[in-house]
Amino acid sequence: MTDHKTIKELCAQFTRIINEPNLEIQRVHAEKPAPIIGFLPTDVPEELIHASGAYPYGLVSYEGMWVNRADAHLQTWACSLARCSFGMALAGKFDYLSGLIIPHICDTTRMISGIWKQTRPYDFMENFVLPRQVDRPSARSYLIGELGRLKARLESFMGRSIADEELQRSISLYNKNRTMLRKLYQFHVRRPDLISNLDVFNAIKSAMLIPKELHNVMVSELLRVVEQQTHERNTDDAARGVRVLVTGKVWEPPAIMEILDESGGVCVADDLSTGYRYIANDVTENGNPLEALADHQLKRPPSPCFVNRGQDRLEYLVDKVKASGARGVIFLHLKFCETENYDYPLLRDALFDANIPNVRVESEIGNVSHGQISTRIQAFMEMLGGEEIYGS
Ligand code: SF4
Repeated sequence: MTDHKTIKELCAQFTRIINEPNLEIQRVHAEKPAPIIGFLPTDVPEELIHASGAYPYGLVSYEGMWVNRADAHLQTWACSLARCSFGMALAGKFDYLSGLIIPHICDTTRMISGIWKQTRPYDFMENFVLPRQVDRPSARSYLIGELGRLKARLESFMGRSIADEELQRSISLYNKNRTMLRKLYQFHVRRPDLISNLDVFNAIKSAMLIPKELHNVMVSELLRVVEQQTHERNTDDAARGVRVLVTGKVWEPPAIMEILDESGGVCVADDLSTGYRYIANDVTENGNPLEALADHQLKRPPSPCFVNRGQDRLEYLVDKVKASGARGVIFLHLKFCETENYDYPLLRDALFDANIPNVRVESEIGNVSHGQISTRIQAFMEMLGGEEIYGS
C-alpha cells in the first residue's frame, strides 16, 4: 500500500531506476514488446518517439568504468559524457536498444554520430540536427522541417504513420510529467528537508529512463505524500540552507548533489539539461503538433549549445539568481565541454560585476575525485553563509 510509504521510500524508487537503468525498461518491454529507441540528452523530441509506439530511453545514467573503452575511437579531448555513453555501447550495455537518436548540439555529438553508426550500429540510427542560432527567422521553419523528417523516418521504421491526435496525446502526457516535476522542484525549494537536492534531480533524470505513464504515477504518489506531510508538519520545521543556482550541462557525477546536501546547500534554480531545463516549459497542446514541438525547443532556457540574442544566457542567469534568492552560483562543468568553456569567462566576469559570488567545479565521469569537489563546494557554502549551516 503506497499509503504507508514514506517520502524517502518513494524517492528511493527513482534512485533505484538510475542505479539499474536497464531493469525497468526491460521489464516493461517484456510485458509489452516494442522497440526501445535511445537518445542522447536532452534536445530530442521524445514525444515523437512515444507517439510512434516505441519506448524513448535517455542515455543519461553512466557507468564511469566504461569511459576508456571509447579511447580507440574518440579523441581523448572528447567529453566524458560522450565517451562514457559510447564506451557503454561498445561494452554491449545498450544492446537492448533498437535505435538511437543523436542531437547535434556540439562538435562532439556531431563527431560521435558517424563513429557510433560505423562501430556499433542499431537498426534505427538518426541524427537530429538542430539550428544553432535559434532566434533567426529561418530557425523555426528549418526545425519544423527537421521534425517532419524525423517523424517520417520513425514512421518508416515502425511501419505505421503517426496521426496528429496521437502526437497530441503524447505531448499531453509529457506536459503532465513536466508540470508535476516542476511542482516537486518547488516543494524541494521550500522544503529541502523533505525533498533533498539529490531527490529532486533523481526524480527528473529517472523520467528519461522509464515510460512516462509509469513515471507520472510515481511522481503523483510522491507529490500526494509530500503535500500531506507539509500540512502535518509545522512550517517552522523547514530546513535552513544556503540557496545556490547551479549552471552547466549535466549534474555529473550524481554524488555532487549529495555533497551539496551534506554541505548545507540548496539548489533553488538550475539550467542543467538533465535538471530544470528538461522540465522548464511545456508544449502547446492545440494546433499543429510539429510546430508546437519546434516552438517548445526554440523557447527552452538558454544553453551554451545555442545562440539566442533574444534571450541572453547571462541575463537569464542573473534574473534567475534574483528571482530565486540564490546567494551564489556554482558552475558545474564537465572537463572538455567546449561549449561551456567558451561561455565561462564572460559569465564569470559578468556575475562578479553584478556582485554575485560564483565558483567553478570541474567534474568528469569516471576518474573523478569526490574529495576535491567536496572541499570546493563546502568552502563555497561556508563563504556564502556559514552561520546558517554551522550556527554563529
Ligand atoms: S557535455 Fe558538452 S561537449 Fe559533451 S556532449 Fe554535452 S555539450 Fe557536447
